[in-house]
Amino acid sequence: MPSGRVHNLINIAAYSVLAAATLILSRQDLLTITPVQALNFTLAYAAGTFLLSPDLDLADGRVDSKRHWGLLGFVWVPYGKLFRHRGLSHSWVLGPLTRLAYLALLITLVVGVLRYVVPGMTLPTIPQPISLKFIVPLVLGYFLSQWLHLIADGIRPDHGLRQGARKLKLQRSRHRPARSRSRRA
Ligand SMILES: [Zn+2]
Repeated sequence: MPSGRVHNLINIAAYSVLAAATLILSRQDLLTITPVQALNFTLAYAAGTFLLSPDLDLADGRVDSKRHWGLLGFVWVPYGKLFRHRGLSHSWVLGPLTRLAYLALLITLVVGVLRYVVPGMTLPTIPQPISLKFIVPLVLGYFLSQWLHLIADGIRPDHGLRQGARKLKLQRSRHRPARSRSRRA
């Protein structure tokens, strides 16, 4: 299993290839990307690589992505305790979403506390409506960074499903002997 540093290097290398390919395609007018879209993709990709890596499920120990949070690294400790290493946190769709949901929960808590402590304070709001053209590069950048991590870990896209199926089978096999015993009795 690659270390945090190797994961970072893989993601940086993939980003460089992608950036070069994008540049070539846009020079030949085969692809049109606005500077804002490129920036959104890059920011989300960097956040997914350095700050929201799937290995935060190890955040109750020493882990690269927690270190990048500096003094705020401790906020990921409960996440590390909540999620088993390479469990749901390392699934392709739900895994990345668990980290976003956890982050959203933290931000909501902080905003709630700030509003309570300083009632008159104005907090920055998200401009509405957000266009798809703005959101899509963010989603792509974040998920791509996560998927590259999972590929490097050797985790298949049906990871979460297979785990779920295994759990179901386990439950069924646990119930079966009990049923046959009751039938005999
Ligand atoms: Zn991992």
